Amino acid sequence: MEIGTVGVVGAGQMGNGIAHVLALAGYDVILTDVSPAAIERALATIGRNLERQVARGRIAAADREATLGRIRTTAALADLSPSDLVIEAATEREEVKNAIFAGLLPHLAPHTILTSNTSSISITRLASRTDRPGRFMGFHFMNPVPVMQLVELIRGIATDDATFAACHGVVERLGKTAASAEDYPAFIVNRILMPMINEAVYALYEGVGNVRSIDTSLRLGANHPMGPLELADFIGLDTCLAIMNVLHEGFADTKYRPCPLLVKYVEAGWLGRKTERGFYDYRGESPVPTR
Ligand code: NAD
Repeated sequence: MEIGTVGVVGAGQMGNGIAHVLALAGYDVILTDVSPAAIERALATIGRNLERQVARGRIAAADREATLGRIRTTAALADLSPSDLVIEAATEREEVKNAIFAGLLPHLAPHTILTSNTSSISITRLASRTDRPGRFMGFHFMNPVPVMQLVELIRGIATDDATFAACHGVVERLGKTAASAEDYPAFIVNRILMPMINEAVYALYEGVGNVRSIDTSLRLGANHPMGPLELADFIGLDTCLAIMNVLHEGFADTKYRPCPLLVKYVEAGWLGRKTERGFYDYRGESPVPTR
């Protein structure tokens, strides 16, 4: 199946990156969000990130203009009707996603593939609420989208082979690499990454090490480019906690119990870089450990 036009729902952190890489690869993109301000911010971010790619010699100046020219924005879900593929990247709440799909379905062509960028919600359950479980799957980009090479492709129980093949083709045209994952809680990357981050918070909680010694240990002792606590701040501690809760509830296994110290940071509103405080304090010139 030939994909030419892609609808992107949600113009936040992920949605703007997804629109960027799709348009750069030559797809016509229709980007929507409930918040007009989010759309404005997304266009500004895409413009800036393309500019950076031009400055680094990764793309030509003409590509920047052509890419921006391929992104249309709209406030109305109905305007996504020409889409061959829709990637939903709105807020990580199941009722929000279900409402988006319900609003979209009356306007979509029968062939349109519907996907979600969800990090943790069951693809099979989301699909079951639509009229096309066979043409529904998970299309999970990593943050920041223009930089990260991986896309997890998640089949729901009903996803058909043609849908998987079409999405795989899109990932290839983006120049990224797909990893196929089954539809179990948190898929592959977060299933492995989040328990490691949670374990790092337990090590901090139990006083095995402080923030600096834990991050230094994993950077220099395991050759990770970022320490686990630094990485948690980058992802957002609320997101880390939400994913641990999905693992904990989804498997009903105490090995996934979120560390009480992680819960405490989230309760304090210390969510990492986005609130300028998490395991590090980012309000000064350079990050200072908070423990
Ligand atoms: P975000 O908060 O930056 O953006 C979400 C956007 O969705 C907001 O602009 C919001 O206005 C919009 N939105 C909310 N309700 C909507 C509606 N009804 N219709 C249209 N737009 C609506 O969140 P994000 O980090 O970009 O996450 C988006 C999705 O991507 C989530 O499902 C998340 O799990 C997933 N994801 C996030 C990351 C990450 O690192 N942040 C990584 C992979 C996947």
